[in-house]
Amino acid sequence: MTPPDTDMTPNDDPLAGAHLDTLGIRAGITRTAEGEHSEPIFTTSSYVFDSAADAAARFSGDSPGNVYSRYTNPTVRSFEQRIAALEGGEAAVGTASGMAAILSTCMALLKSGDHVLCSRDVFGTTTNLFARYLVKFGVAVDFVPLLALDQWRDGLRQETKLLFVETPSNPLCEVADIRALAELTRGTDALLVVDNCFCTPALQRPLELGADIVIHSATKYLDGQGRCVGGAVVGGAAHMAEVVTFLRTCGPTMSPFNAWVFLKGLETLRLRMEAHSRSALDIALWLQQQPQVERVFYAGLPSHPGHALATQQQSAFGGVLSFQVKGGREEAWRCIDATRIMSLTANLGDAKSTIVHPATTTHGRLTPEQRVEAGIADSLIRVAVGLEHVDDLKADLQRGLDAVV
Ligand SMILES: *Cc1c(COP(=O)(O)O)cnc(C)c1O
Repeated sequence: MTPPDTDMTPNDDPLAGAHLDTLGIRAGITRTAEGEHSEPIFTTSSYVFDSAADAAARFSGDSPGNVYSRYTNPTVRSFEQRIAALEGGEAAVGTASGMAAILSTCMALLKSGDHVLCSRDVFGTTTNLFARYLVKFGVAVDFVPLLALDQWRDGLRQETKLLFVETPSNPLCEVADIRALAELTRGTDALLVVDNCFCTPALQRPLELGADIVIHSATKYLDGQGRCVGGAVVGGAAHMAEVVTFLRTCGPTMSPFNAWVFLKGLETLRLRMEAHSRSALDIALWLQQQPQVERVFYAGLPSHPGHALATQQQSAFGGVLSFQVKGGREEAWRCIDATRIMSLTANLGDAKSTIVHPATTTHGRLTPEQRVEAGIADSLIRVAVGLEHVDDLKADLQRGLDAVV
């Protein structure tokens, strides 16, 4: 007879092993003595200590209590715990914006003399952050085409400390092999950083594929309704401790109100990403059949070069697609201007569908040669498919396509 397991510690975390849907709703909740069901917003800059000794203990770090909201805030902490749970990371930190998340990661983990390999196909402001600012502080940066694995391998030096990618890419939906990039960093000092803004943890979990750090612009799908600006960094405890120290010292922290909005967004994240993906695939298939359309870029299409890889590392293909109309800039502009439901804006990750002409907006600062190299044709249109009824979105795009010829 086996003795009773009296000294076995019970697993007291009911969310251990829980599904994404459950984590998005339940992770990171701590209730106050009021017993509120929803997460409260702690709009306080500072905190009151129980005694002078308590103040000393909290300042020294001997006691874990709050001191000041640039360091910790309970609403922000709830968001951090929830996004960490969703990404499967040991820790996360909320930031004032997606760019603040990237900046904080770089400032915490890089120093003068270090080298970064960055995908050529990242968010334009990310390119500027590396090329205009980090270089001022002695960090060398090389930009590499997202899919050119041999160039990533050849670009690695002893001083290389970060590989930075965004996948799928914007606006052509190219899919990077996260496992293969992680493999390249093995045995080196370089960390793989993945901007997971387009997929969110609902569709892709880079840490499980070998990435070291995940970046979010919470402004996009985590909010999901285009209301607040914020970001997050998720990763292992040691790296996150460095990023947290930078944030507490230098200050680009998340506001508690925004954290509360993002907590609401995370509750419906999986459902929304599934719906965005379903409509985007439907529209991509439909666009492919339209006579005014030259080519459609969406990894959900079996004809897309990244389809097989996306099927392996993502659970769906996301809400962003792009397509070329027959003709050039004039035809693309006519198509965009004839739509009446979609919003003409460069934002994405919103319940409201958006439409934009990359060559003259998001990628307008590239030279014509750089645009050709990056595959951004003048006839290209990007759509971030929202949550309106898909038939209404098709009817809207039909208005646009009718105006092309
Ligand atoms: C928007 C965006 C960012 C920057 O985020 P902000 O919240 O606007 O600072 C970074 N990466 C990607 C992929 C984005 O779309």
